[in-house]
Amino acid sequence: MDRTSIRQAAERLRAAQRVLVVCHIRPDGDAIGSLIGLGLALQAAGKEVQMVCADGVPGSFHHLKGSRQVVGRPSGDFDACCVVDCSDLKRTGGVLDNLPQPDLNIDHHITNLAFAQINLVDPQAVSTTQILASLLPEFGLPVNEAVAAALLTGLVTDTIGFRTQNTTPAALRLAADLMERGANLSELYYRGLVGRSFAAARLWAAGLSRLQKDDRIAWCTLTREDRKAAGYPGKDDADLINILSSIEGIDIAIVIVEQSRSRVKVSWRAQPGIDVAQIALRFGGGGHPAAAGAELNLPIDEAVPLILEATQEALPQPEALPDGQAEITII
Ligand code: 5GP
Ligand code: MN
Repeated sequence: MDRTSIRQAAERLRAAQRVLVVCHIRPDGDAIGSLIGLGLALQAAGKEVQMVCADGVPGSFHHLKGSRQVVGRPSGDFDACCVVDCSDLKRTGGVLDNLPQPDLNIDHHITNLAFAQINLVDPQAVSTTQILASLLPEFGLPVNEAVAAALLTGLVTDTIGFRTQNTTPAALRLAADLMERGANLSELYYRGLVGRSFAAARLWAAGLSRLQKDDRIAWCTLTREDRKAAGYPGKDDADLINILSSIEGIDIAIVIVEQSRSRVKVSWRAQPGIDVAQIALRFGGGGHPAAAGAELNLPIDEAVPLILEATQEALPQPEALPDGQAEITII
């Protein structure tokens, strides 16, 4: 992120009275934390803010102050538009389709397409909220208790509780700083990563009952019937991918979630040294080397073999891994 872009972004926000903030569909903790963190900070500086997420806020983030303000579509006029935690405009779910090019794109995905007028993208950051934590003071915006809680949520969830390989001392120092500003780490950690509904556990059971291991890939599907039988309200995997990626001796974990008769959502997670973002990109998705996703317009039965084949191709031979990496298991 260059200083000129940061200065331009600060000026753009300073001059705006009505600001639209947008995050991605099927939001995770970093999407919601970034949306609410930036939204509440702008509000605290006296701006009129509309926070938009096409899919709304999942129940596991309703405890965050400001979550009730999030709406599904923008309405009215805006002086500035900021998109957070989205690597491309498609990820906003079409909510910006009839609006001018966004002013700001704040993100940490290596696959980011630099789609805005000003792009503040840092793939080294563990979460988009980590970028926001450094930008808010530059923008002259306050980090009060509610903003700190939102930012810490993104930090905790995108690092899966500070367990990912990219977790740095700076990320831990930021967590401490946000705690000093009033964010409750243990509560945010529990709500964002640990506490799950009974329906989510039943959905896991359905997926785990069909768990497969092909070579060094662990994978399973979640169907519409599974969701119905479990009484699970969302179309996501209820974080089942985190369970699959904790299996020892596995290089890549995959969960394939049926969205409709002709559409699936795929999540990949990889061990260090393997880049699943490249596989996701082949299917029109994106993400990070260690965690990526994509949507395919195919029935689940047709999608599964294609996904497995592409993933097998991306698996390096053991000798191709950096020294010692073949033996390393994370989390
Ligand atoms: P998840 O598997 O949890 O949905 O996503 C893992 C990572 O990949 C996240 O950083 C998420 O933003 C990104 N990702 C997931 N699905 C998509 C997609 O369809 N398109 C793009 N560009 N990124 C995705
Ligand atoms: Mn993120």
